[in-house]
Amino acid sequence: MGRFDGRVAIVTGAAQGIGAAIARRLADEGAQVGVIDLTAERAQGTADEIVKAGGAAIAVGADVSKTADVQAAVAAVAGEFGHVDILVNNAGITRDNLLFKMTDEDWDTVVTVNLRSAFLMSRECQKHFVAQKYGKIVSLSSRSARGNRGQANYAASKAGIMGLTSTLAIELGPFGVNVNAVAPGYIATAMTDATAKRVGFAPEDFQKASAEATPVRRVGTPEDIAAVVAFLAADESSFVSGQTIHVNGGADR
Ligand code: NAP
Repeated sequence: MGRFDGRVAIVTGAAQGIGAAIARRLADEGAQVGVIDLTAERAQGTADEIVKAGGAAIAVGADVSKTADVQAAVAAVAGEFGHVDILVNNAGITRDNLLFKMTDEDWDTVVTVNLRSAFLMSRECQKHFVAQKYGKIVSLSSRSARGNRGQANYAASKAGIMGLTSTLAIELGPFGVNVNAVAPGYIATAMTDATAKRVGFAPEDFQKASAEATPVRRVGTPEDIAAVVAFLAADESSFVSGQTIHVNGGADR
């Protein structure tokens, strides 16, 4: 028996990194997974891994910041598996720059991809959740929501995820829907490798410095985040709602 036997999950931005680890974890524990990324080709690798390991998954291409793409993607997953029970809003990007150099486009792109996408996906999935009186939404915030040099756009979008989460928890709780967020610290992925390069470090040196500044003396892995997302997506946490869980090895700043 897996915690997600009979459940259908959607994970956005699941071609790589944290999203791929979440998709694999939910599938390992029995969920049928809609693996969403910008193109179906990019999402297919994760779906193939899940199927190879004995699970069930489909790859769906969608830009989750666009309403029509979101509607089509949720319909595709519901059409394939019959229902939708769990939504993980994971897709996210950075366009870092200090405020005086940050363009309108840097701001709009990050807020649209990181925050509007979670609004659109949640609005679309709640139709299923409210009708069946069951649903779980887990969205990816970030430690950067507390402020991070060069990330005004990203930090604002991730703080927005916290506000969205606490509000949706109030609105959807009476319909059997739990809404929570996870705020990772430094997790070794393509995103943090790119940040390292932007500030002039080799990714391994950047990781080493971050590990030294972290009480548990290591950086996080995508699997560290997947474990907490799985807890929040499972029925054992059904009295937890409206929360943002910080997963950062104790590195609060
Ligand atoms: P990642 O390796 O860059 O993966 C993000 C995935 O999202 C990529 O596959 C990307 O596709 C996809 N994506 C981007 N825009 C999309 C869109 N509009 N529609 C659909 N998919 C889209 O990032 P990650 O490090 O795994 O991060 C995952 C989440 O955790 C993000 O929300 C991030 O902000 C958050 N987070 C990460 C860290 C960390 O340390 N890594 C810390 C805190 C929070 P392309 O590659 O094709 O663009």
